[in-house]
Amino acid sequence: MPVEVAARPTLYNPAPDAPTLLHNVFGLPGFRGEQEAIISHVIDGNDAIVLMPTGGGKSLCYQLPSLCRDGVGIVVSPLIALMRNQVAALRQLGINAAALNSSLEPAERAAVRADLRAGRLDLLYVAPERLMMPDFLELLDGANIALFAIDEAHCVSQWGHDFRPEYLQLAELAERFPNVPRIALTATADTQSREDIRRRLRLGDARLFLASFDRPNIRYAIVPKASPLRQLQTFLAAHAGESGIVYCLSRATVDDTAAALNAAGVKALPYHAGLGAQIRSRNQDAFLAEEGMVLVATVAFGMGIDKPDIRFVVHHDLPGSLEAFYQETGRAGRDGAPAEALLLYGMQDIVFRRHMIEQSASPPEIKRIERGKLDSLLGVCETAGCRRQAILAHFGETLPAPCGNCDTCNTPASTWDATTAARKALSAILRTGQRFGIGHLVDLLLGTATDKITRFAHDKLPTFGVGTELDRKGWSSVFRQLIVHGAVEVDHDAYGALRITNLAKPILQGGEEIHFRHDQAATAAAIRQKKDRVALPPAANALFEALRAERTKLAREQNVPSYVIFHDATLIAIATARPASLAALADIPGMGKSKLDRYGATVLATVAAAG
Ligand code: ADP
Ligand code: ZN
Repeated sequence: MPVEVAARPTLYNPAPDAPTLLHNVFGLPGFRGEQEAIISHVIDGNDAIVLMPTGGGKSLCYQLPSLCRDGVGIVVSPLIALMRNQVAALRQLGINAAALNSSLEPAERAAVRADLRAGRLDLLYVAPERLMMPDFLELLDGANIALFAIDEAHCVSQWGHDFRPEYLQLAELAERFPNVPRIALTATADTQSREDIRRRLRLGDARLFLASFDRPNIRYAIVPKASPLRQLQTFLAAHAGESGIVYCLSRATVDDTAAALNAAGVKALPYHAGLGAQIRSRNQDAFLAEEGMVLVATVAFGMGIDKPDIRFVVHHDLPGSLEAFYQETGRAGRDGAPAEALLLYGMQDIVFRRHMIEQSASPPEIKRIERGKLDSLLGVCETAGCRRQAILAHFGETLPAPCGNCDTCNTPASTWDATTAARKALSAILRTGQRFGIGHLVDLLLGTATDKITRFAHDKLPTFGVGTELDRKGWSSVFRQLIVHGAVEVDHDAYGALRITNLAKPILQGGEEIHFRHDQAATAAAIRQKKDRVALPPAANALFEALRAERTKLAREQNVPSYVIFHDATLIAIATARPASLAALADIPGMGKSKLDRYGATVLATVAAAG
């Protein structure tokens, strides 16, 4: 007999066990990874620090204990704009969730407070600054609190790029509510953030749960940038009708790229901090609500976005660190279905990122760390081995075998002995007095007698024309990899002139062999290749489309994104299994009791109508 889902927290008493709630409320067949251990630890009243990759399933770790424990779970989240959708999704599951933030009307706010006072809430989302207001804390003093969940807990650390001073005040919760368990969650893995979370949130001896950071359903491809718009369009052509994010470094690139894509018939919207709050939130909502939309954005977009069916994340420009890259790409494929991460990077990107670090006002030891983080990302970019192995190694994990789901695994990259080429490139720099940029140096190596070459009498140099074994692309690849290697640096104050460093000496003196990656071979294939989606038997296609249409109708009626009604995976499972009764439908993943009550009849009718 199905267990009744309570409309009020007190009705969960005596609390059903977590697996029962997982099945009946969330409609999920089982826990993932560390979830079960974390959930029972928190249900028992203990503090926890949870590190899990984006899309790993952190929300369940506080949502389920909030239902099992007496009282309301207070969720601290910095992302006001997203609370609405989170609450909508929970309400679909029959959970009494609410949000309290500055976007509410006074009357709505009063209603939420009244619900809280009366003990009618299972979960309450609040922004940190509101939580720590004296009158709100007093309200909480009188409430029955199941737990505090501190989401995006790395915001307490100055080391990341998401530091929020208001997070520091959350430490006071430890004294004020000593008997309420606190669970801090983040997808940021570095040890510095981890220590800051423990210390600054006074999580003393809270148990640390460190999940694997692998996201096996995401396929990684990293490709040298040639003409990014064309590369992007080639990529998007293989992803028509899918939702995805394209990250660009600058606002101007965002605007230009979004415009170019629209002109080419792709539904694309821009998002960056220069657009004004209204346009931003309109574009974000459209992206969340509609299917098949491309959001072209700066990194201002994305934290806390929990749209589960983002099928790809493209980096049009190089991110600043492997951490940032991983966090941003992690937004793809939260639903577990195949997803793609494509990164385009060129020499200019590397030069720009290095320049940014050197220019910043940070103290030397921070600069050193930032250099290290950038270099880790560049190492992954230039590796001829498995990308996933290289990424996970950075996070301290060992993947025993190549993953088989990245560009270098699918189209193995070869390396070549670039010792001679590197020496030629370095001597081209030296012979011209370390005063010229890459274009001129390549002209010199190729023996192209441009005006500039003859004006400086560079055609008289012994290096003139010694590099015809490579073409222009080949030489740019050599210079780029020399820059990554650290043997060459770019002088920003001298119009991008290349200079050699101490690391160039062993190469020039013949003491060091250098092996570089062949760029070209794998590139085109990597952009076009795409993992097959969950295969839908041809016979199930019509039903899947009918279910999708029904879902769109329901979502419009309730003014929520489609995924809040059902994930694609749920529709695929229904279209394949063709359940004929409510009992059979209840076994479909994503079909909790509440959704069965709300939509069961409609779904069965759609299945029956499809014959
Ligand atoms: P995070 O907050 O860690 O980025 P979420 O909590 O948003 O991740 O979960 C990511 C996705 O995984 C969601 O679509 C969620 O429904 C799904 N999910 C979480 N736990 C499970 C589970 N045990 N079984 C199946 N799907 C799950
Ligand atoms: Zn691999």
